[in-house]
Amino acid sequence: MQEIIDRAIKHGWGYIGYGKPAAYIPELSKVNPNQLGISVIQINGENWNSGDYEAKFTIQSISKTVALIMAVVDRGADYVFAKVGMEPTGDAFNSIIKLETIKTAKPLNPMINAGAIAIDSMIQGESIDKKFERVLDMFRRLCHNHSIGNSEQVYNSEKATGFRNRALAHFMKDSGIIEGEVEEVLDLYFKQCSVEVTCKDIAMLGAVLAGDGVSPVTGERLLPRSLTRLVKTFMVTCGMYDASGEFAIRVGLPAKSGVGGGIMASVPGKMGIGVYGPALDEKGNSIGGIKTLEYLSNEMDLSIF
Ligand code: GLN
Repeated sequence: MQEIIDRAIKHGWGYIGYGKPAAYIPELSKVNPNQLGISVIQINGENWNSGDYEAKFTIQSISKTVALIMAVVDRGADYVFAKVGMEPTGDAFNSIIKLETIKTAKPLNPMINAGAIAIDSMIQGESIDKKFERVLDMFRRLCHNHSIGNSEQVYNSEKATGFRNRALAHFMKDSGIIEGEVEEVLDLYFKQCSVEVTCKDIAMLGAVLAGDGVSPVTGERLLPRSLTRLVKTFMVTCGMYDASGEFAIRVGLPAKSGVGGGIMASVPGKMGIGVYGPALDEKGNSIGGIKTLEYLSNEMDLSIF
């Protein structure tokens, strides 16, 4: 296994020169683009790592999986999916177009920005701080890492520049999708995107999903199986945004990417995989990360299809 993942990283490394870090969140543009790392955690807890797997990065959109879990736990699936759809968009992750052109005004799914912001408005808690504490607590449990926190620099950077997300949120407030104060919901969203993790943390999250909700470390049930099935299905259809179709063909795994450069993948019944490479392709997915996963999936015949 160690040898295969070393080779996968070497393969992925050949592509990072074709991408670049996200620049629309100023703080993200400061990272070293030449990093690439991977962690693999089997559902029995066995773990292998290679490359820059210890580097910290912000989780960004990978957090949408955890927010979805919390909203369904807090409000139930019927409530959540009355306001957010279940279909892929074929548009960029921060696109606004379908909010107006589709009659129901529902964001199409919880993995795009509009859907995730709507999902955040459903998470329970007396204040934004309390809500974020609950979200952090869920991250810590699912990643089996009690020291997980967030980057204030990245949070402030996105809060200062997140005008497009503000536009999405105001649009959805107007159409009754978002409840509560728009700025408060956005604050929770920016905070959750700024949570700092390593490859190991997201590999663990992928491994919990792979094991249908059971912790690979303690054997404790952390999530009901039905919820992990829901999340993994969204990861297949919408997790890589408008690149989800090609990713399903080339890699064939439930996966969720973030503009911080992380990709969390889950191989049902087998393992979680966390990759990190901040150089992104034009769709906002880690270019080296995708190639690393593609290599690994082909070598080990991991595709679920
Ligand atoms: N915080 C980012 C944003 O809202 C998350 C996007 C992403 O990771 N694709 O733009």
